[in-house]
Amino acid sequence: MAKLDESIAAQVAAGRCRHCGGPLHQANYQRKPRGGLIGGPGEAFSLRHSLCCGRRGCRKRALPPSLRFLGRRVYLEVVVVLASVLAQTVREIGAATAASGVPWRTLRRWGAWWRDVFPRLAMWAELRARFVPPPPDDSALPRSLVARLGGDPTSLGEPGPGLAEVVLKVARCLAPATTNSVPEGSRFVVAAGVVATMV
Ligand SMILES: [Zn+2]
Repeated sequence: MAKLDESIAAQVAAGRCRHCGGPLHQANYQRKPRGGLIGGPGEAFSLRHSLCCGRRGCRKRALPPSLRFLGRRVYLEVVVVLASVLAQTVREIGAATAASGVPWRTLRRWGAWWRDVFPRLAMWAELRARFVPPPPDDSALPRSLVARLGGDPTSLGEPGPGLAEVVLKVARCLAPATTNSVPEGSRFVVAAGVVATMV
C-alpha cells in the first residue's frame, strides 16, 4: 500500500496546481495513525504523501488519494473499514469495540458517515457504475462492499488468508474518497494502475 500511495502521489505531482497552475512540490508529512486492535502493523506506515504549490503567494496544498488514510481520521483506513463492518455484524456495539479497540462513539460516527455521507459522494456513484449489476447495497455499506469484493463479513475480525487481499481491494476502491483537495481523485488512482476492474 505504501508503494501504491507513492505512485498515486507521483501521478498527481506530474500535474499542476489547480488554483494557479504552478508546479507541485513534495511536502510529505508524518502522521501517527492508530491501528486499534486490528490494524497494528499498519501503524508503522506513517508517511502521508502531500504536495504543495511552489508558486509564491499560492502555496496551496494538494493531498493525493491514499490507500492508507481516509481523510483526517486518525485511524488507518483498514481499521475504519473493518471496525465498521464489525459494528454492522455484531448485535451489540460493545462487542465491536472490544474486538476492534475503537471507542463506540467513534464507531457510531463512522457508521453515520457510511450511511449518510459516503453513498452521496460522486466517487461512489462512479465506482458503483463499475460493478456488474447489482452494485453493493447503499444501505449496508461498508459491509456490502466488502462482501462484494470477496470478503466474508462474519470472519473479518480474524485475520485469514483472504483478508489482506480483500482489504487491499477495498482500499483501492476507496482511494478517491480519501481527499477532497485533489479534484477527480479517481483519475490519478486509475492512472497509477491502482483500480482494477471490479467483479
Ligand atoms: Zn498554486
